[in-house]
Amino acid sequence: TEEKSLNFIEEIVEEDLGKGKYESILTRFPPEPNGYLHIGHAKSICLNFGLAQKYKGATNLRFDDTNPVTEDVEYVDSIKFDVKWLGFTWANELYSSDYFDELYNLAVKLIRKGLAYVDDSSPDKIAAEKGTPTEPGIENEFRNRSIEENLLLFEQMKNGKFKDGEKVLRAKIDMKAINMHMRDPIMYRIKHAHHHRTGDKWVIYPMYDFAHGQSDSIEHITHSICTLEFVPHRELYDWYIDNLEIFPSRQYEFARLNMTYTVMSKRRLLQLVNEGYVSGWDDPRMPTISAFRRKGYTPSSIRTFCDKIGVARRDNLIDISLLEFCIREELNAIAPRVMAVLHPVKLIIDNYDENETEELVSENLPNDPANTRTVSFSKELWIEKEDFMEVPVKKWFRLAPGAMVRLKSAYIIRCDSFIKDNDGNVTEIHATYIPESKSHHDTSGINVKGTIHWLSVKHATKAEIRLYERLFTVENPAMEEGDFKNFINPHSLEIIPGAFVEPQLQHAVEGEKFQFIRHGYFCVDRESKPGEMVFNRTVTLKDSFKK
Ligand code: ATP
Ligand code: MG
Ligand code: MG
Repeated sequence: TEEKSLNFIEEIVEEDLGKGKYESILTRFPPEPNGYLHIGHAKSICLNFGLAQKYKGATNLRFDDTNPVTEDVEYVDSIKFDVKWLGFTWANELYSSDYFDELYNLAVKLIRKGLAYVDDSSPDKIAAEKGTPTEPGIENEFRNRSIEENLLLFEQMKNGKFKDGEKVLRAKIDMKAINMHMRDPIMYRIKHAHHHRTGDKWVIYPMYDFAHGQSDSIEHITHSICTLEFVPHRELYDWYIDNLEIFPSRQYEFARLNMTYTVMSKRRLLQLVNEGYVSGWDDPRMPTISAFRRKGYTPSSIRTFCDKIGVARRDNLIDISLLEFCIREELNAIAPRVMAVLHPVKLIIDNYDENETEELVSENLPNDPANTRTVSFSKELWIEKEDFMEVPVKKWFRLAPGAMVRLKSAYIIRCDSFIKDNDGNVTEIHATYIPESKSHHDTSGINVKGTIHWLSVKHATKAEIRLYERLFTVENPAMEEGDFKNFINPHSLEIIPGAFVEPQLQHAVEGEKFQFIRHGYFCVDRESKPGEMVFNRTVTLKDSFKK
C-alpha cells in the first residue's frame, strides 16, 4: 500500500498515544437528528471512524438531541442506516438526552462553585448587554445573586414554575472577554416542549455548548472533532471541563466539506424537500447519502472520495466531478455492460428471415472475456435516433443512407433506405446485413469505423430512464446573493419514459448496477416494478462537464 503522509489530526493522535496521554482513543460522530445525512457528514464519519480504525480505538454514535423541536425518530433511523451502509460500526449508540440528569447535576455543581447564575432578563436585554466585539458587555443585577437563590431558582426552572423565556441559567465568566462566547454564555433555557425521547419530563434544555463538551466528557471521548465554525467555542468547551473538573476531552477542528453545484446544510436541504423542489430527501439530485445510494453510488466510492479530499484546516470548495470520478472508476471495473436504447427508432434488416432469432454472445466486462451473456437478434431492431443522419456531417461513422456500421456483437449492416412521417421525423430505417460479418467469426473483409448498440424489438423490455444533471446552475449557490433557490437548474431531471433495455433487466433488483454502453452507468430505482422498470443514471461515461 502507498505511504500517505499523516493529516494534522493523525499527528495529534500519534503524539497523544506516543506520550501515553491516552491508552486508546475514543471519537464520536454526533449528528443532530433533524435531517438526513449528507456527503459532508460522510467526511466527518470517515474521519471519526477512520481514526478509530487506524489507531485501534472506538467511535460512539451520539445523537445530539438537545433541541426538542426539530428532531424526529425518522431521522434517527435514517442516520443509523446510512452510517452502517457506509461501512462503519459504532461502539455505543448514545443520546445526549440520556445525559439530561447528569447535565443538570453538572449545572448545579457550577452554581455551587459560584460559576453560574439565573438571569431574569429578556432575551433582548441579554443580547444588548452582551456588547460587541469592540465594546465590553455589561454585568447586570442578577449576576450577583446568592448561590442559595440560584440553586432554588434553577430548581424551580426545572420544575416548570416559569414560562418560556422568563429565565435562563448562565455561566458566570467574564462580560469583558474578547471572545464573545465567554461573556456569560447561556447554559439552559426554558422550553415547554415535548422531546422525542424524554417526553414531557423536561421543560429546560441545555444549550449546545453546555451539552456537547459535557457529553464528550461523560463518555470519555479523547478527541472531539468538529468543523471550523467551532474554533471560537473551544475556549468555552475547555472552561466548562476545567471548572467542572471532569474528564478532559479535547476539541479539534477541521474544514467542513463544501462541494460545487450543491448546498450542504440541512436547513436548506429541508427547504428543497418541503417546498417540493425535489421529491424527498433521497431524490437522486440531493447531496444526501440516501440520494447517492439511490442514484447508484457505492459506499466505497464515497469513502474513496473522502480519503482523496483529505482533512484540511482551511475551508475550501471541492469539485463535484471528483466524487463522480470516484464512482465512475469503480463502476467501470464492476458494472456489467448491457445495451439500452433511450430514443428508439426502428431498424429493419430486409434480408433477415422474420421468423428467425439468433442468440449472439456479448461480453459483460471488457477485461474478462469469459464473462458473457447472449443477446437475441432478429429482423426488427431498435437503435438510437441519434445514430442515424439523413445527411451525414463530415467524419460521421454511424448510420446514414448508403453507409455501413457494425451492430455491437452482431453483424455489419448497410443502410439502404428510410421512411419519414409528415413532420419529417425518421420512423423506419431499412438495411441489409452481411452474413459473413458476424462478430468473432467475421470473414467479410469489410472494415467499418462505427459500432452502434441495438435491441431486438420483440425481445426488448420497455423501461423508464431518469437522467440527472446538477441541481444548481452556479458553483456555490449558498454564496450567491438572494435566495439560493433562484439558482436551481430547471433541467436537473430528464425522464425518458419510452426507452428499451435488454430483457433480463426485468429481473434486476433495486440498486443493481449496469453500464448502458455508450450512455453511462445506471442502477435500478426503488420505484421499479416488474414490467415497469425504472433506471437512474448514476454518472456519465466521461466527464462531460464544460468548464
Ligand atoms: P448542517 O449545517 O448541515 O445542519 P450540522 O453541523 O448542523 O450540519 P450535525 O448533525 O450537527 O449537522 O453534524 C454532525 C457532525 O457532522 C458534526 O460533527 C459536524 O461537524 C459534521 N458535519 C456537518 N456538516 C459537515 C460538512 N459539510 N463537512 C464535514 N463535516 C460536517
Ligand atoms: Mg450541529
Ligand atoms: Mg445544523
